[in-house]
Amino acid sequence: MEREAKPYILKRLADEASPRTLSIDYQAALNSQQLAAVTAGEGPSLVIAGAGSGKTRTLVYRVAYLIDSGIDPSNILLLTFTRKSAQEMLSRAGDLIGARSQRVCGGTFHSVANMLLRRYGRSIGVEPGFTILDRGDAEDLIALCRAQLGLNDKGKRFPRKGTVMEILSKSENTLRGLDDIVLEEFAHFADHLEDLTRLQQAYQSAKRQKQLLDYDDLLVMLRRLLESDESARAAISRQYRYILVDEYQDTNRLQAEVIRRLASTHNNVMVVGDDSQSIYAFRGATFKNIMEFPTLFSNATIYKLEENYRSTQPILSLANCIIEEATEKYTKRLFTRKIDGPLPSLVEAAGENAQSRFIAQKILELREEGVPLSEVAVLFRSSFHSFDLEIELSRAGLPFIKRGGVKFIETAHVKDLLAHVRVIANPLDTVSWHRVLMLVEGVGPKKAQDLLAAIVKVGRPFDVLRGVSGRSGQGLKSLANALEGLSGAGDQSPAEQVSHIYEYYLPMLKEQYDDYPKRIRDLDHLHTIAEGYPVINEFLADLALEPPDGSAVDVDAPDRDDERLVLSTIHSAKGLEWQCVFIIWVVDGRFPSAYSFLSDDDLEEERRLFYVSVTRAKRYVFMTYPINVYDKASGMLLSKPTRFLDHVSSDLLDVLALVEESGQEHWGSSRYQDF
Ligand code: ATP
Ligand code: MG
Repeated sequence: MEREAKPYILKRLADEASPRTLSIDYQAALNSQQLAAVTAGEGPSLVIAGAGSGKTRTLVYRVAYLIDSGIDPSNILLLTFTRKSAQEMLSRAGDLIGARSQRVCGGTFHSVANMLLRRYGRSIGVEPGFTILDRGDAEDLIALCRAQLGLNDKGKRFPRKGTVMEILSKSENTLRGLDDIVLEEFAHFADHLEDLTRLQQAYQSAKRQKQLLDYDDLLVMLRRLLESDESARAAISRQYRYILVDEYQDTNRLQAEVIRRLASTHNNVMVVGDDSQSIYAFRGATFKNIMEFPTLFSNATIYKLEENYRSTQPILSLANCIIEEATEKYTKRLFTRKIDGPLPSLVEAAGENAQSRFIAQKILELREEGVPLSEVAVLFRSSFHSFDLEIELSRAGLPFIKRGGVKFIETAHVKDLLAHVRVIANPLDTVSWHRVLMLVEGVGPKKAQDLLAAIVKVGRPFDVLRGVSGRSGQGLKSLANALEGLSGAGDQSPAEQVSHIYEYYLPMLKEQYDDYPKRIRDLDHLHTIAEGYPVINEFLADLALEPPDGSAVDVDAPDRDDERLVLSTIHSAKGLEWQCVFIIWVVDGRFPSAYSFLSDDDLEEERRLFYVSVTRAKRYVFMTYPINVYDKASGMLLSKPTRFLDHVSSDLLDVLALVEESGQEHWGSSRYQDF
């Protein structure tokens, strides 16, 4: 039907472009395979290639090329894994084509879903003022529903709120039924299937009534909107005539479905990815999405990129060797013209602290040799792996920023403050109400529940709070006054709201935390972020969707961005590159983690994770592993380097051990020597 209504005709871009003079010399900047993808005509295309082969660069040039060919930038949609990467890509496109690139719509699937649902969601019952629940909030709501259903009191252990969330989320993201997920992946909870289904229903109806959407809902609802509202779908599809997706290997089925529907009227979709770098299976991502792209979009053109521009041959040889052992893979071997470079090092350390001191020392040496701190990264499997190193780096005066750890927004004090702002933005937000009430002296879980019920029923929260006498009476009155101060002035900016609640919250913060000075810095930071927003809903949605990195409680570094090295989980290092990459805890049992030993799929995911970490490096790779580490969880003594190096021939590695120089005990004292 919308065929007649189509307001445009399909024309091959190349035909349109040829008489135009293009402003960029694409041929000089790209190899022939990249050029073919960048200048491709309309229709679906898949760029599949290994790490560092220029996939992201291809998308950047594609954006520039489309604009260069006369496409209105606002007709382009660029979907990336983080908002930061979208911004970086668009700024790089801007360097090529000028400020027009800023009108391209770029962001994550979730942020685009958020924007579209606020504009078009009414037809499927999503009001524009909805609140986004982050993972912690969603779990809290599940706990509330679970308590209401009386599931806590059952004899047999019911899954924890985090596990319930994991089960529900997996079902949404993989488009599989709850029973399927429970019976196949959580069989030990099979007895609870009926109760889990009830809980799922209660959770969903609570969200619907209170206009709360969790992360999964954003995608689920967007898909529903695109399915059920023809006119919205036509309008959206018309708006975004060119859809580009980076890191496609880390999308899940739901996202693939969303893309298909977004593109339903034009099929102009270009996705790029590397199946060997798929590392988000725990969130339902599947590298099979890449293999299945040609099925989802028939007539897809496939482009393969084979030259690696990032790493030297020794690094690439190691990476190739690691991924060669993978059971399922699609991408080909890569080559590079950067033939020379040092061999990747595998360094044995007597213990965790020796590992940390070596790294601090090596970073200082590299800096002497001219490698700036901003070109150094230390990568690890889990956020807690870097705690000892963080202390050592601070001692050595090496400033760092940590990525992928506890997010600033997930810290209790930031959540506390925001909860107050949120109950005013959405008075139905019971999760935030609960948090706000529990902070008041004299209010426990039972009292909070009763108050919540009254607030929902009566609808005039301030009256309810002021009507309470007894131990919590005074506290609740102060709360009512503080909140009324927010709601009374509808035109208060987000920053004004934050500082208003800050005044009220400060005494509680001081009372509760010994390290409150650091936490106050986080709240100051929150205030600074708020200053960038004119509207409260935008501020809250962005915080939930794209939480800023590290809290001051974890990271203590001066504010000189360019002078810091990066500590990052491997997951958060996706798509990035540095001159020098350290990978720590490369000891079997930590990497791969002992938990993954029992499942082939999990082990394969860990292998890909290792591949991702090695391929971040341009010139230097140092893999370090402490020995004689007792692992409490598995009861094992860890001493062996990761099994992913078992098949790597010794001439691809520089195998070293740290030897403590006698008489010196500080971080600079260890020297390393060849085995
Ligand atoms: P990943 O798989 O890690 O996401 P990628 O395939 O997206 O990597 P890019 O990040 O786009 O690769 O490129 C890796 C590096 O190689 C970048 O520094 C990029 O600028 C450079 N590069 C890519 N192609 C070329 C080229 N044709 N000429 C010069 N440099 C290039
Ligand atoms: Mg990339």
